[in-house]
Amino acid sequence: MRLCWFDEFRFGVVVGDDVCDVTPVLELLPPAVYPTPPGDPVIANLERLRPAIQEMLASAPRKPRSAVRLRCPVGNPGKIVATPVNYLKHVEEVAAQRHVFTDARKGTITDQGLFLKSVSGLIGCDEPVRVRFPERRTDHEIELGVVIGKPCANVSEADALNYVAGYAIALDMVVRGSEDRSFRKSIDTYSVLGPWLVTADEISNPDDLDFEILVNGVSKQRSSTKSMILSVSQQIAWASAWYTLWPGDIIMTGTCEGVSQVVPGDTMNCTINGIGSMNVAVSAAEPGVIRHQWQRAAH
Ligand code: MN
Repeated sequence: MRLCWFDEFRFGVVVGDDVCDVTPVLELLPPAVYPTPPGDPVIANLERLRPAIQEMLASAPRKPRSAVRLRCPVGNPGKIVATPVNYLKHVEEVAAQRHVFTDARKGTITDQGLFLKSVSGLIGCDEPVRVRFPERRTDHEIELGVVIGKPCANVSEADALNYVAGYAIALDMVVRGSEDRSFRKSIDTYSVLGPWLVTADEISNPDDLDFEILVNGVSKQRSSTKSMILSVSQQIAWASAWYTLWPGDIIMTGTCEGVSQVVPGDTMNCTINGIGSMNVAVSAAEPGVIRHQWQRAAH
Protein backbone atom coordinates (compact mmCIF):
# COMPACT_ATOMS: atom_id res chain seq x y z
CA MET A 1 0.00 0.00 0.00
CA ARG A 2 1.02 3.56 -0.69
CA LEU A 3 -0.01 5.70 2.28
CA CYS A 4 -0.06 9.46 2.42
CA TRP A 5 -1.27 12.56 4.20
CA PHE A 6 -2.75 15.13 1.84
CA ASP A 7 -4.42 18.54 1.71
CA GLU A 8 -5.70 19.59 5.16
CA PHE A 9 -4.37 16.38 6.77
CA ARG A 10 -6.57 13.81 5.16
CA PHE A 11 -5.21 10.26 5.35
CA GLY A 12 -4.96 8.60 1.97
CA VAL A 13 -4.02 5.55 -0.04
CA VAL A 14 -2.56 6.09 -3.49
CA VAL A 15 -4.08 3.73 -6.08
CA GLY A 16 -2.80 4.25 -9.61
CA ASP A 17 -3.03 7.97 -10.30
CA ASP A 18 -5.66 8.56 -7.61
CA VAL A 19 -5.55 9.37 -3.93
CA CYS A 20 -8.33 7.61 -1.98
CA ASP A 21 -9.49 9.34 1.19
CA VAL A 22 -9.56 6.78 4.04
CA THR A 23 -9.45 9.31 6.90
CA PRO A 24 -12.36 7.66 8.81
CA VAL A 25 -10.11 4.66 9.67
CA LEU A 26 -8.29 6.94 12.11
CA GLU A 27 -11.29 6.55 14.43
CA LEU A 28 -9.93 3.06 15.14
CA LEU A 29 -6.77 4.46 16.74
CA PRO A 30 -6.51 4.00 20.51
CA PRO A 31 -7.65 7.08 22.46
CA ALA A 32 -4.98 9.74 22.96
CA VAL A 33 -3.30 9.86 26.37
CA TYR A 34 -1.00 12.39 27.91
CA PRO A 35 1.98 12.24 27.94
CA THR A 36 1.77 10.67 24.51
CA PRO A 37 3.96 7.58 24.16
CA PRO A 38 6.90 7.94 21.75
CA GLY A 39 6.19 7.07 18.17
CA ASP A 40 3.72 8.01 15.48
CA PRO A 41 0.32 6.49 16.39
CA VAL A 42 -0.73 5.81 12.79
CA ILE A 43 2.52 4.04 11.93
CA ALA A 44 2.47 2.18 15.26
CA ASN A 45 -1.06 0.91 14.56
CA LEU A 46 -0.74 0.28 10.84
CA GLU A 47 -1.39 -3.45 11.06
CA ARG A 48 -4.52 -2.80 13.13
CA LEU A 49 -5.76 -0.23 10.57
CA ARG A 50 -4.87 -2.23 7.48
CA PRO A 51 -8.04 -4.42 7.18
CA ALA A 52 -10.28 -1.37 7.63
CA ILE A 53 -8.28 0.55 5.03
CA GLN A 54 -8.66 -2.33 2.55
CA GLU A 55 -12.38 -2.51 3.23
CA MET A 56 -12.88 1.22 2.78
CA LEU A 57 -10.84 1.52 -0.44
CA ALA A 58 -13.51 0.54 -2.96
CA SER A 59 -15.97 3.19 -1.79
CA ALA A 60 -13.51 5.87 -0.64
CA PRO A 61 -13.76 9.33 -2.25
CA ARG A 62 -10.99 9.78 -4.82
CA LYS A 63 -9.05 12.69 -6.26
CA PRO A 64 -6.37 12.64 -8.93
CA ARG A 65 -2.86 12.83 -7.43
CA SER A 66 -2.30 16.03 -9.44
CA ALA A 67 -5.24 17.67 -7.62
CA VAL A 68 -3.98 17.10 -4.07
CA ARG A 69 -1.12 18.50 -2.00
CA LEU A 70 0.94 15.66 -0.60
CA ARG A 71 2.27 16.15 2.92
CA CYS A 72 5.06 14.29 4.64
CA PRO A 73 3.83 10.66 4.86
CA VAL A 74 4.86 10.39 8.51
CA GLY A 75 2.80 12.72 10.70
CA ASN A 76 4.77 12.74 13.92
CA PRO A 77 8.23 11.25 13.59
CA GLY A 78 10.33 11.26 16.74
CA LYS A 79 13.70 11.55 15.07
CA ILE A 80 15.47 11.52 11.74
CA VAL A 81 18.57 9.32 11.82
CA ALA A 82 21.01 10.10 9.01
CA THR A 83 23.83 7.96 7.67
CA PRO A 84 26.91 9.76 6.35
CA VAL A 85 29.41 8.64 3.67
CA ASN A 86 27.55 5.41 2.79
CA TYR A 87 28.48 5.29 -0.91
CA LEU A 88 32.14 4.87 -1.91
CA LYS A 89 31.93 7.16 -4.97
CA HIS A 90 30.44 9.93 -2.82
CA VAL A 91 33.31 9.45 -0.36
CA GLU A 92 35.71 9.84 -3.32
CA GLU A 93 34.06 13.00 -4.66
CA VAL A 94 34.20 14.55 -1.19
CA ALA A 95 37.93 13.67 -0.89
CA ALA A 96 38.62 15.12 -4.35
CA GLN A 97 36.85 18.45 -3.66
CA ARG A 98 37.89 19.43 -0.15
CA HIS A 99 37.47 23.11 -1.10
CA VAL A 100 33.73 22.51 -1.65
CA PHE A 101 33.12 19.95 1.07
CA THR A 102 34.65 22.00 3.84
CA ASP A 103 32.27 20.18 6.15
CA ALA A 104 33.75 16.73 5.41
CA ARG A 105 34.49 14.66 8.49
CA LYS A 106 37.46 12.35 8.78
CA GLY A 107 37.18 8.58 8.68
CA THR A 108 34.85 5.91 7.40
CA ILE A 109 31.17 5.57 8.15
CA THR A 110 31.91 3.41 11.19
CA ASP A 111 34.43 5.99 12.47
CA GLN A 112 31.91 8.82 12.07
CA GLY A 113 28.76 7.20 13.40
CA LEU A 114 25.20 8.24 12.57
CA PHE A 115 23.85 11.73 13.12
CA LEU A 116 20.41 13.25 13.77
CA LYS A 117 18.41 15.87 11.91
CA SER A 118 15.63 17.84 13.58
CA VAL A 119 12.07 16.83 12.67
CA SER A 120 11.13 20.52 12.52
CA GLY A 121 12.84 20.63 9.12
CA LEU A 122 10.63 17.95 7.62
CA ILE A 123 8.22 18.58 4.72
CA GLY A 124 6.33 16.61 2.07
CA CYS A 125 7.05 16.79 -1.65
CA ASP A 126 4.45 19.41 -2.57
CA GLU A 127 6.05 22.09 -0.42
CA PRO A 128 9.21 23.80 -1.73
CA VAL A 129 12.65 23.51 -0.16
CA ARG A 130 13.34 27.09 0.89
CA VAL A 131 16.99 28.08 0.49
CA ARG A 132 18.39 29.72 3.61
CA PHE A 133 21.61 31.70 3.43
CA PRO A 134 21.64 32.09 -0.38
CA GLU A 135 25.22 33.35 -0.23
CA ARG A 136 26.22 29.83 0.78
CA ARG A 137 25.87 26.54 -1.08
CA THR A 138 22.71 24.45 -0.53
CA ASP A 139 23.06 20.91 -1.94
CA HIS A 140 20.62 18.09 -2.66
CA GLU A 141 21.25 14.56 -1.43
CA ILE A 142 18.77 11.93 -2.64
CA GLU A 143 18.52 8.95 -0.28
CA LEU A 144 16.34 5.95 0.43
CA GLY A 145 14.14 6.82 3.42
CA VAL A 146 13.31 3.98 5.82
CA VAL A 147 10.39 4.37 8.25
CA ILE A 148 10.48 2.26 11.41
CA GLY A 149 7.23 0.43 12.24
CA LYS A 150 7.78 -1.11 15.69
CA PRO A 151 9.89 -0.15 18.71
CA CYS A 152 13.31 -1.77 18.52
CA ALA A 153 16.48 -1.77 20.56
CA ASN A 154 19.59 -3.79 19.88
CA VAL A 155 17.90 -5.60 17.01
CA SER A 156 20.02 -8.08 15.02
CA GLU A 157 20.81 -7.56 11.34
CA ALA A 158 18.89 -10.74 10.52
CA ASP A 159 15.76 -9.44 12.24
CA ALA A 160 16.07 -5.73 11.36
CA LEU A 161 13.79 -5.56 8.31
CA ASN A 162 10.91 -6.95 10.40
CA TYR A 163 10.84 -3.57 12.15
CA VAL A 164 10.35 -1.53 8.98
CA ALA A 165 6.92 -0.01 8.24
CA GLY A 166 7.86 1.16 4.77
CA TYR A 167 10.00 3.20 2.45
CA ALA A 168 9.93 6.62 0.81
CA ILE A 169 12.18 8.95 -1.15
CA ALA A 170 14.20 11.22 1.13
CA LEU A 171 16.02 14.45 0.39
CA ASP A 172 18.73 15.27 2.91
CA MET A 173 19.32 18.92 2.04
CA VAL A 174 22.35 20.72 3.44
CA VAL A 175 24.05 24.08 3.63
CA ARG A 176 27.80 23.48 3.20
CA GLY A 177 30.07 24.95 5.83
CA SER A 178 32.01 24.36 9.00
CA GLU A 179 29.20 24.18 11.56
CA ASP A 180 27.98 20.90 13.05
CA ARG A 181 26.19 18.72 10.50
CA SER A 182 22.98 18.49 12.55
CA PHE A 183 22.82 22.32 12.54
CA ARG A 184 23.29 22.72 8.78
CA LYS A 185 20.92 19.87 7.90
CA SER A 186 18.07 20.81 10.26
CA ILE A 187 17.04 24.05 8.57
CA ASP A 188 13.27 24.35 7.99
CA THR A 189 12.32 22.45 4.78
CA TYR A 190 15.78 20.77 4.53
CA SER A 191 14.33 17.26 5.03
CA VAL A 192 11.85 16.04 2.43
CA LEU A 193 10.02 12.72 2.61
CA GLY A 194 7.66 11.57 -0.11
CA PRO A 195 5.80 11.23 -2.26
CA TRP A 196 4.13 8.59 -0.03
CA LEU A 197 5.05 5.67 2.22
CA VAL A 198 5.28 2.34 0.38
CA THR A 199 4.61 -0.37 2.95
CA ALA A 200 7.46 -2.83 3.49
CA ASP A 201 5.55 -5.80 2.02
CA GLU A 202 5.87 -4.16 -1.42
CA ILE A 203 9.68 -3.84 -1.33
CA SER A 204 11.29 -7.26 -1.31
CA ASN A 205 14.87 -5.98 -1.18
CA PRO A 206 15.57 -2.39 -0.06
CA ASP A 207 19.25 -2.97 -0.87
CA ASP A 208 18.53 -3.24 -4.60
CA LEU A 209 16.64 -0.10 -5.63
CA ASP A 210 17.75 2.13 -8.51
CA PHE A 211 17.33 5.84 -7.91
CA GLU A 212 17.97 9.14 -9.67
CA ILE A 213 17.59 12.87 -9.16
CA LEU A 214 17.39 15.38 -12.00
CA VAL A 215 17.68 19.11 -11.43
CA ASN A 216 15.85 21.11 -14.11
CA GLY A 217 15.81 17.98 -16.26
CA VAL A 218 19.56 17.27 -15.95
CA SER A 219 20.59 14.03 -14.23
CA LYS A 220 22.77 14.75 -11.20
CA GLN A 221 22.78 11.63 -9.01
CA ARG A 222 22.06 8.15 -10.31
CA SER A 223 22.86 4.95 -8.46
CA SER A 224 21.39 1.96 -6.66
CA THR A 225 21.05 1.15 -2.99
CA LYS A 226 23.14 -1.92 -3.94
CA SER A 227 26.12 0.44 -3.66
CA MET A 228 25.51 1.29 0.01
CA ILE A 229 28.46 0.44 2.25
CA LEU A 230 26.11 -0.42 5.15
CA SER A 231 22.87 -2.14 4.15
CA VAL A 232 19.47 -1.07 5.47
CA SER A 233 19.58 -3.97 7.98
CA GLN A 234 23.05 -3.00 9.17
CA GLN A 235 21.97 0.63 9.65
CA ILE A 236 18.91 -0.36 11.69
CA ALA A 237 20.94 -2.77 13.81
CA TRP A 238 23.66 -0.18 14.40
CA ALA A 239 21.26 2.69 15.20
CA SER A 240 19.22 0.50 17.55
CA ALA A 241 22.37 -0.52 19.41
CA TRP A 242 22.75 3.13 20.44
CA TYR A 243 19.14 4.27 20.92
CA THR A 244 15.64 2.84 20.75
CA LEU A 245 13.95 3.31 17.40
CA TRP A 246 10.23 4.14 17.61
CA PRO A 247 7.41 3.83 15.08
CA GLY A 248 7.68 6.70 12.64
CA ASP A 249 11.39 7.28 13.16
CA ILE A 250 13.02 7.91 9.79
CA ILE A 251 16.42 6.70 8.62
CA MET A 252 18.00 8.60 5.73
CA THR A 253 20.39 5.98 4.41
CA GLY A 254 23.08 8.10 2.76
CA THR A 255 23.64 9.59 -0.68
CA CYS A 256 25.64 8.67 -3.76
CA GLU A 257 28.02 10.76 -5.88
CA GLY A 258 26.82 13.78 -7.85
CA VAL A 259 25.57 16.08 -5.07
CA SER A 260 25.26 19.61 -6.42
CA GLN A 261 23.95 23.06 -5.62
CA VAL A 262 20.33 24.13 -6.00
CA VAL A 263 19.00 27.69 -6.14
CA PRO A 264 15.52 29.22 -6.00
CA GLY A 265 13.63 28.44 -9.20
CA ASP A 266 15.11 24.95 -9.58
CA THR A 267 13.00 21.78 -9.68
CA MET A 268 14.32 18.48 -8.32
CA ASN A 269 12.79 15.41 -9.95
CA CYS A 270 13.44 12.40 -7.73
CA THR A 271 12.72 8.74 -8.47
CA ILE A 272 13.33 5.52 -6.58
CA ASN A 273 12.37 2.28 -8.31
CA GLY A 274 9.49 0.58 -6.53
CA ILE A 275 8.51 3.75 -4.66
CA GLY A 276 7.67 6.37 -7.28
CA SER A 277 8.62 9.88 -8.34
CA MET A 278 8.25 13.35 -6.95
CA ASN A 279 9.01 16.87 -8.16
CA VAL A 280 10.24 19.16 -5.42
CA ALA A 281 10.52 22.89 -6.07
CA VAL A 282 13.27 25.10 -4.67
CA SER A 283 12.33 28.61 -3.61
CA ALA A 284 13.59 31.52 -1.55
CA ALA A 285 13.25 31.48 2.25
CA GLU A 286 10.53 33.41 4.03
CA PRO A 287 12.28 34.73 7.13
CA GLY A 288 10.04 34.92 10.18
CA VAL A 289 7.52 32.36 8.95
CA ILE A 290 6.92 29.53 11.37
CA ARG A 291 7.11 26.30 9.39
CA HIS A 292 5.85 22.99 10.54
CA GLN A 293 4.48 20.08 8.61
CA TRP A 294 1.31 20.34 10.70
CA GLN A 295 0.71 23.93 9.73
CA ARG A 296 -2.76 23.89 8.19
CA ALA A 297 -3.57 26.80 5.93
CA ALA A 298 -0.98 27.69 3.27
CA HIS A 299 0.83 30.93 4.11
MN1 MN B 1 22.92 12.58 3.52
